[in-house]
Amino acid sequence: MPAAQPDAIRLRGVRQNNLKGFDIDIPIGKLVVVTGLSGAGKSSLVFDTLHAEGQRRYVETFSPYVRQFLELLPAPALDSAENVRPSVAIKQGNAVRTSRSTVGTMTELCDWFKVWFAHRAELLDPASGQPVVPQGPAAAWDTCLQAHVGQAVVLAFAVQKPAGLAWPAIAEEFVRAGFTRAFVSGQRLRLGEEAIPEDADEALIIQDRLTISTAEASRFHEAALVAFRLGGGRMRLLTDAGVEIGRFSEILESPVDGRRFRPATPALFSFNSPIGACPDCRGFGRVIGLDWKKIIPDPKLTLAEGAVAPFQGNVYGESQRDLAKACKKKGIPLDVPWNKLTAAHRRYLEDGDPTYVPGEWESKWYGIRGFFRWLESSTYKMHVRVFLSRWRAYEECPKCRGQRFREESLWWRWQGRSLPELYALPVTELRTLLRPYAPKDSRHPADHALEAMLARLGYLEAVGLGYLALDRLSRTLSGGEVQRVNLTSCLGACLADTVFVLDEPSVGMHARDLSRMVGILRSLVEQGNTVVVVEHDESVMRAADWLIEIGPRPGAAGGHLVYAGKPTGILKAKDSVTGAWLSGRSQPATRAPRPVTDTTPRLRIEGATVNNLRDFSCTLPLGRLVGLCGVSGSGKSTLLHQVIGRRDPESGDTSAQGHGKLKFDREHEEVALVDQSPATRTPRSNPALYVGAWDAIRNLLGNSEEAKAAGLTPSHFSFNAGEGRCERCGGAGWETVEMQFVSDVALPCPSCNGKRFRDEVLAFQFDGKSVGDLMAMSVTEVRVFLGGRTPASQQLAVLEEVGLGYLSLGQPLTTLSGGEAQRLKLVRYLGRLDPRKPGALLLLDEPTTGLHREDVARLIALLHRLADAGHSLIVVEHHLDVLKACDWILEMGPEAGPGGGLLVAEGTPAQVSQAGTTTGNFLAAGDAAFATPDTRTAKPRPTSISLRAPVSTTCAMSRSRFRTAP
Ligand SMILES: [Zn+2]
Ligand SMILES: [Zn+2]
Repeated sequence: MPAAQPDAIRLRGVRQNNLKGFDIDIPIGKLVVVTGLSGAGKSSLVFDTLHAEGQRRYVETFSPYVRQFLELLPAPALDSAENVRPSVAIKQGNAVRTSRSTVGTMTELCDWFKVWFAHRAELLDPASGQPVVPQGPAAAWDTCLQAHVGQAVVLAFAVQKPAGLAWPAIAEEFVRAGFTRAFVSGQRLRLGEEAIPEDADEALIIQDRLTISTAEASRFHEAALVAFRLGGGRMRLLTDAGVEIGRFSEILESPVDGRRFRPATPALFSFNSPIGACPDCRGFGRVIGLDWKKIIPDPKLTLAEGAVAPFQGNVYGESQRDLAKACKKKGIPLDVPWNKLTAAHRRYLEDGDPTYVPGEWESKWYGIRGFFRWLESSTYKMHVRVFLSRWRAYEECPKCRGQRFREESLWWRWQGRSLPELYALPVTELRTLLRPYAPKDSRHPADHALEAMLARLGYLEAVGLGYLALDRLSRTLSGGEVQRVNLTSCLGACLADTVFVLDEPSVGMHARDLSRMVGILRSLVEQGNTVVVVEHDESVMRAADWLIEIGPRPGAAGGHLVYAGKPTGILKAKDSVTGAWLSGRSQPATRAPRPVTDTTPRLRIEGATVNNLRDFSCTLPLGRLVGLCGVSGSGKSTLLHQVIGRRDPESGDTSAQGHGKLKFDREHEEVALVDQSPATRTPRSNPALYVGAWDAIRNLLGNSEEAKAAGLTPSHFSFNAGEGRCERCGGAGWETVEMQFVSDVALPCPSCNGKRFRDEVLAFQFDGKSVGDLMAMSVTEVRVFLGGRTPASQQLAVLEEVGLGYLSLGQPLTTLSGGEAQRLKLVRYLGRLDPRKPGALLLLDEPTTGLHREDVARLIALLHRLADAGHSLIVVEHHLDVLKACDWILEMGPEAGPGGGLLVAEGTPAQVSQAGTTTGNFLAAGDAAFATPDTRTAKPRPTSISLRAPVSTTCAMSRSRFRTAP
């Protein structure tokens, strides 16, 4: 008898990071949400313990050879683990870098499209634009019935004389096979008796002769089948007298010029296959070309003034002389600015003389392109490679115009559209287009594929990504978008009995899209999986089957299991911070918005046209906390980064066009984007150094009587200089080990064990604490310990203000989460030294990411302190608590993508909540939605939209693969 399905993953004595050795059961086959304050230990439980153990057991099923390529998580600290399942992390991070990875390939939609397209597309002859339809025996019979009833016709097939064979030998073969007659050049011959003229190119061997009537249908078909087979897929229809009345071909070829085409196979419609990929760019859609903005950096210069930058200077100055010579010959003026030259002249200068062949550089103009082609032929020289790289840039592949496919693939159309044209449509539009063709109970491979396509497109829509096109490059997606795309792939893959772990899938989602997101998580559970989500969003917590809280406080004061049970139970849990918020015992602090009047200084934006913003204008108050909201993809991030921040978030390009005009009524010291990127890239930095507290601390230590007695000075306690540092790591504490295949690993220095100092410095104690002890203590603990003895305490207190008091003093800043790094960066603006200077304009993109509602309350207080200090803040945010706390709100919308880009509401939070807009309605419902008495007793509502993935062969495969896991 098979063992009963275990009901829970049992983890015993969990001690990873700050976790306090508790036991926990995680129910299998349920939607589990883990919550808690930042730094309380949620990730330590979900990712470092549950997922690490699951992944470890899963990876053990691979051979040692494969294992060396997999990034292995370290074994978690725990006593025992039972019923562990293989675990898959659906990550936010964007590991995809290749430009062949698109939304279509990530979701495997391209794999289904190529199968479906191969069956359903028709080929348009490039010579005529007419469909090429293969015509076999049935088509030939139809022609005869329409045009030749009652006539005697001859079915024949053509034989070409192969080289090296004579006609008599060929004729003999056919006679032996039972053929007796043929037409050659219109003359009827008896094979074997009458000779075929040696100069004849082909002979039409007669298969049958019959008079067309319905009674002859089966005889015609039989004869035609043989004729097609022996004729290599072609057949001729002749009159009795040998006059051709029809040609039929079962093969794909142009009736106009006889061009043969490849059959429609899935490979022809895959840009990852050499058969389908554009040969010039190998399916990447772009090639390394010339960067004309660099070659002609200033189009206002004339040729004589040096408009062509690479020709200036000594090395290639000869080309400048060749250019002048060519201009004289061709009558191109040297004293006219480049941008005033005629288009034809510019093209001539760029492309060169059309008759130029390499080597003729003395007599003909080779063109700027020709110059670079010549350079490329000698790239083995280092200085040439360096020179070339200065003028190069990626450009759209000129052969396929970025469509990635070879020309032949593009001749195939479905409803008049080529495959890349379908890939360029937004998911929602594509789905609407395909849905009418949804098959009913068909087992045709094309219908099967279409079914899978529609299901996957539906998933993408359900997670709020209907605005993406399948050809969108993966590496241009935001972290949240990547996670949601990956989520739909997992649904499509039909894994079962697997643990999926997710980190805040609600990030970047509007409240409107959240219930659909929960529906997707539910579908994974319905497929027989366990879904464990680290999440703070109330509606997701409420929808969970099982809710876990780790806490109660961050860092050392956390790491306890505060609650595990049904979501409703947490409302009464005594120590639960989450329960306090959900039940309404905790409330966000309210304050009246700072007044915005006609005299309030403003930022005026005029005529911005970027992404989905079209000639967009608006104003917003300065010196205030301003919220930018709206559904995902409505254009708020574009407004923040590209229009106000004047920076392309993808390329970092600050020179892009279309940003419109910005007019400030008031000056700013700086405009700073405070994002979630790391505060520093060097592992040497830590919280004490970042706030400048370490100098005061080492002065305190080094100037103490005990230090003097031990012969130590403040400089011995410096990380960055002096002789107190560990010799091996120079005070860094960490060594970076370069790994093959996987990303580099930072390991504690083996000499000082990560403590950064020499043994005699570490042995020194100040008031019972060594430097090593201080570095390991939390910021809060160190502040309390130091008390009034040094100004460092005040500097450290700022870290507590931004909610980072739980960090240890020596924690490398590279290990901070995105949200932690963002709050750390705000520290700089808190302590404004000179109040007479104008404040900064601070731009924040979703600062509540990863925050518990309690942490959000602290963040809001921090934002207000910044506004009080005279800074202007513009915050892109979905979190209702933040929006309610704003002085002013701008809402973008009404929809995502092309349906957005408009300002739909503006005003105080109270005004916007009455505007009847999407965000307005959520603001109006607001607290009532989670703190009313009926939610307190309500059962968690599984907001299931019941999406079922089609059963597919890949599904069965993956399942059996996963069954082999323990
Ligand atoms: Zn190409
Ligand atoms: Zn060291």
